[in-house]
Amino acid sequence: MIPKKKWGQNFLIDSNITRKIARQADLHPDDCVWEIGPGKGILTEAILQSCENLTSFEIDPDLLDDLESKFADYPNFRIVPGDILRIDWEEHLQPGTKVIANLPYQITSPFLFRLADYRDKILCAVLMIQKEVADRIVAKPSTKDYGILTVKLNLAFNTERLFNVEPHLFYPQPKVRSTVIRLIPRIDPPEIEDMKLMYRIIEAAFHNRRKTLRNNLKQLVTSDTMAKLEEAFDLTRRGETLAEDDFLHMYRIIAADR
Ligand code: SAM
Repeated sequence: MIPKKKWGQNFLIDSNITRKIARQADLHPDDCVWEIGPGKGILTEAILQSCENLTSFEIDPDLLDDLESKFADYPNFRIVPGDILRIDWEEHLQPGTKVIANLPYQITSPFLFRLADYRDKILCAVLMIQKEVADRIVAKPSTKDYGILTVKLNLAFNTERLFNVEPHLFYPQPKVRSTVIRLIPRIDPPEIEDMKLMYRIIEAAFHNRRKTLRNNLKQLVTSDTMAKLEEAFDLTRRGETLAEDDFLHMYRIIAADR
């Protein structure tokens, strides 16, 4: 079978690394686990060694038969065919699920945002993603990697970079470097009633990174609200200088005016 680029099929070929990835989720026999994109099943096998209550979602119909027969001895292992971004998470996701994946890189951002929407049902996520996306997730304010993904994801999760995985451990070898990260839902997430508004503020603040906050926020707020923001913030700053507390402060001023 020729690996399909359109589905990000870079298969891991080293079971030491899949065991190392699975260990990061601290699996117990009665855990409930989701795996995204089992591929040929090398990471699936590592997960099943510690926990058999596993649901794996695979988009490629050509891989399903082999997966079914390879893991036929595991009655609590289920494969759900289809696109993880289209299936009904409400229907499948049980509270307290651990998510593990060597993610197909093209779905990384939408998948992470979906995970943030369902953070209440997730215990942890251990994910291999592109190193440059991992850099963005753990970035600090006023750095080039700090941006929309950083702020949105860190509102929902404590984020942690674990280790890099070298290209020679995949077939075919990816052109980018890979990093395993762990996301754990925050126990003290900030109270945000209107998350859509919060997301719009974050997106506006980073809309044009070279522009000042005043310019970027113009599209979102009235001149009255802008005046209130001006009292609290130096609006000649750039969005990338705002820490989470600044975004929350900004959100409260804007939300109170709606
Ligand atoms: N877990 C395997 C491994 O580590 O070798 C395969 C990882 S490979 C990077 C990504 C896998 O995700 C492929 O099997 C691919 O077919 C599957 N995939 C791609 N897009 C998907 C989607 N939207 N929903 C579910 N599976 C997807």
